Amino acid sequence: MTTRLFRSIEEVIEGQQTSDGDGVKLTRVIGGGNLNRFDPFLMLDEFGSHEAADYIGGFPSHPHRGFETVTYMLNGSMEHRDHMNNVGKLDSGDVQWMNAGSGVIHSEMPRQDEGLMRGFQLWLNLPAAEKMKPATYQDLKSDSIPVYEIDGVKIKAIAGELVGNGVQLKGAVFGLTTDPAYLDVEFKASCSLTLEVPAGHTALVYVYEGEIALTDSDYLLGKGRLARLSKEGLLALNAREHSRVLVITGKPIDEPIVQHGPFVMNNIEEIHQAVRDYNQGCLV
Ligand code: MN
Repeated sequence: MTTRLFRSIEEVIEGQQTSDGDGVKLTRVIGGGNLNRFDPFLMLDEFGSHEAADYIGGFPSHPHRGFETVTYMLNGSMEHRDHMNNVGKLDSGDVQWMNAGSGVIHSEMPRQDEGLMRGFQLWLNLPAAEKMKPATYQDLKSDSIPVYEIDGVKIKAIAGELVGNGVQLKGAVFGLTTDPAYLDVEFKASCSLTLEVPAGHTALVYVYEGEIALTDSDYLLGKGRLARLSKEGLLALNAREHSRVLVITGKPIDEPIVQHGPFVMNNIEEIHQAVRDYNQGCLV
């Protein structure tokens, strides 16, 4: 039996244009359908527009239960308010890491009425044992997030502990059960990054500028496309020009996933309970 040195591409996905919240235009890269193959990840949205009409409605008050939301602003300004009286303002380069746990009710609203608003929201599932814990929330200012410059590659390490080109990377967030890594990687020209992702972990690469060759193949993953990789071996990314990608990896939870909009639980009865709790004003 031979073991492949590099992870191979299992699937390539193109994001779909949609809208959510109060008419916010966005590209849904992961979301809906059979989510088990992305475990522990549930959703990835990209938003980006210079037109206020595409984002100004924002995401007024809404609930979540059972997972974490990670919002990463590339450009622009967004304000979060929640039922715990947290108020957080995200500016360019900042990250909000929110664990909805048993319940959060919050709003995510633009704090600008012109200019570029651009970023991502990732949903990360929680294991059953953590779904009903109290909600927590943290804002990570851009200058508090570690940045590595290795062999012409700039890596903003939002989360996780991986080795890249032989260098230990340590993200701002670590120690979670799902061991997520979330890297914003910029290739300044023709250069390469090889990441040592733990065996068995899900690995996703999303290109948002330029194009990238993955693994040892010549296939080029273009802008707006996400690749899901196999679960063993090194993750190699080779750029031929200036390119920017998200690398997202994590340990699968391997439990049933039942989603109903902003609630993600393990079975339908828990979903019914979440809807009842929300309707009766006792989600949080
Ligand atoms: Mn939300």
